[in-house]
Amino acid sequence: PSAQRALEVRDLHAWYGESHVLHGMAFDVREGEVVTLLGRNGAGKTTTLKSIMGIVRQRQGEILFGGQNLVSLSSNKIARMGIALCPEERAIFASLNVRENLLLPPEVREGGMRLETIFELFPNLAERLASQGTKLSGGEQQMLAIARILRTGARFLLLDEPTEGLAPVIVQQIGRTIRRLKSEGFTIVLVEQNFRFAATVADRHFIVEHGQVVDMIPNDEIGHRQDTLHEYLGV
Ligand code: ATP
Repeated sequence: PSAQRALEVRDLHAWYGESHVLHGMAFDVREGEVVTLLGRNGAGKTTTLKSIMGIVRQRQGEILFGGQNLVSLSSNKIARMGIALCPEERAIFASLNVRENLLLPPEVREGGMRLETIFELFPNLAERLASQGTKLSGGEQQMLAIARILRTGARFLLLDEPTEGLAPVIVQQIGRTIRRLKSEGFTIVLVEQNFRFAATVADRHFIVEHGQVVDMIPNDEIGHRQDTLHEYLGV
């Protein structure tokens, strides 16, 4: 990754109604880098992704991207700047088949990934084009959800626990996809509970506790810092 920053989050606060859940979140992502947000359930990882995307709208602080502070922008505007979120619940259309799901998202920018490239990246999807969303396995649904955000042309991806509940062989496949996207210059923020998986794809890890980043571990130090990591994650 280059030294240039793609995103910088500074002193970010977010609320759900009266409930204050991000308390000065801060981290940065360089162009072409993969970083993870690691932490226990309820630490505020998903809220951070949703705040960047403008889905959580009660937010304050700085989310600097492309020379602008995203805190004052709507999620539509943010999407048009080339950021896309793949939510934990894998927002695909259950009643539509794979092809229809891929053709549905509006291409919000030029340069949305072509179907041929998507099928090269996800050969399983190519074989399941006529299958309805509900008939897909968890892994296939996850791949379809990632494929859909690639169709938007976004180059900055927010992935919320893409490996959750998936079999090890599918997790490996998702890992290969993420490394391939990185090699093609995408910048990725990944929320994970599975730090073993995180270590196979990421450059740096930010540890999230109580709505803040409490530590940063470069991936090449993760081996020495297993104990700290276990403590943070409670595993
Ligand atoms: P998880 O892996 O469980 O999603 P997380 O680190 O992503 O954990 P968040 O989902 O961001 O955590 O949740 C942070 C806090 O905000 C938690 O205390 C959670 O209960 C609360 N919270 C999350 N979503 C809402 C909501 N829609 N309304 C109110 N409180 C919420």
